[in-house]
Amino acid sequence: MTDLDAPLALDDPAAPHSASGESVPTHDLSDVAPPARPARRWFPQRVVATPPAYDHPHGRHIMDRIEAYGIEVERLTSARLTGVRGENDRQTYARAKSTLAIVVSPPSRRKLQPIAPSADWRFDLAEGCPAHCQYCYLAGSLSGPPVTRVYADLDDILDGLSEYAGHGTVTSRRASRRDEGTTFEASCYTDPLALDHLTGSWQRAVQHFGAWNAPVQLRWTTKFDEVDNFVGLSHNRRTRVRFSVNCLPVTTRMEGGTSPLADRLAALRKLALDGYPVGLTIAPIMTVDDWRERYGELLDAVAAAIDGVPDLDLTAELITHRFTPGSKEVLLGWYPRTRLEMDEDARTRKHGKFGAVKYVYPADIMTELRGWFESEIASRLPACRILYWT
Ligand code: SF4
Repeated sequence: MTDLDAPLALDDPAAPHSASGESVPTHDLSDVAPPARPARRWFPQRVVATPPAYDHPHGRHIMDRIEAYGIEVERLTSARLTGVRGENDRQTYARAKSTLAIVVSPPSRRKLQPIAPSADWRFDLAEGCPAHCQYCYLAGSLSGPPVTRVYADLDDILDGLSEYAGHGTVTSRRASRRDEGTTFEASCYTDPLALDHLTGSWQRAVQHFGAWNAPVQLRWTTKFDEVDNFVGLSHNRRTRVRFSVNCLPVTTRMEGGTSPLADRLAALRKLALDGYPVGLTIAPIMTVDDWRERYGELLDAVAAAIDGVPDLDLTAELITHRFTPGSKEVLLGWYPRTRLEMDEDARTRKHGKFGAVKYVYPADIMTELRGWFESEIASRLPACRILYWT
């Protein structure tokens, strides 16, 4: 039995790109996790809706959209979802990853959390993601089978943001980011472009911020490329879409079910040409073989993608790979044949917020990586502003 009223990701610590270190059961799912391959538009095999979800206009809108694709929406009589647990963990993971639930957001998600260094506040329009990244930062913090939840109470969620405008610490304390206003991050526990064709939620959010006449910014990051529905929206440059990118050895081997790098960069160009502020989330940065050459190729590919874009507003967020005992345990269970390096002896042990242990690259490697990225971005992408390194 899966309780769809419960959040999928545990609340504390709220740490995107850095799993929580919770102890969770492991799963041997090597036959389930697909290899990295070009994403097709994702369609769930099973869609369910809880009763309160269809009381909301946006919930009914999502159901209509999904039914228009010819997919049946099961109307549940409660938030209890059965039929996800399979005969073994492998089956359970596979069923959960191909199930979409239309639900009302849990009350805990309606109280926004700060989300430094990315943004002032985090809000959620969905939780869960159909992709299969072998380093997934959600891995250590899931409370049960990873059924993707999309939220029907979109209007209430968007209305609730107004009380947070003008507050927050990230953008107001950093002079280099003051022009962003109060920032709201909408991709902590999901990938928006993996789901927007099914919900339209992020299109609505872009329009909401576009019409919100205040110093505010919506931001999200994605590994997908379906942006045509966003071109032409009244965004008023109040949404920054960042593309999560990496060097090819990482994108092709470790990011199952996501869009190929070239397609993500083509999507970045489309949005930049439509006047959106855009960004790169270069994450997780890894010391793969020949990393300077491989990341150099990535920066050159970005330079080609932004060539000739007028009024370009491009930022970069640089996030090195880290893991926690909990995320390592889960990821090795899901992807036992992964080539992802998670060797505690080669890392420095650190305590994050709330005391969670995490393993990061040692200081000398961090310094070398940071120096390389800062100087190469300055020379290969001179228009790009680095927002933070972590
Ligand atoms: S895109 Fe990859 S890293 Fe991001 S939530 Fe989905 S599986 Fe995890």
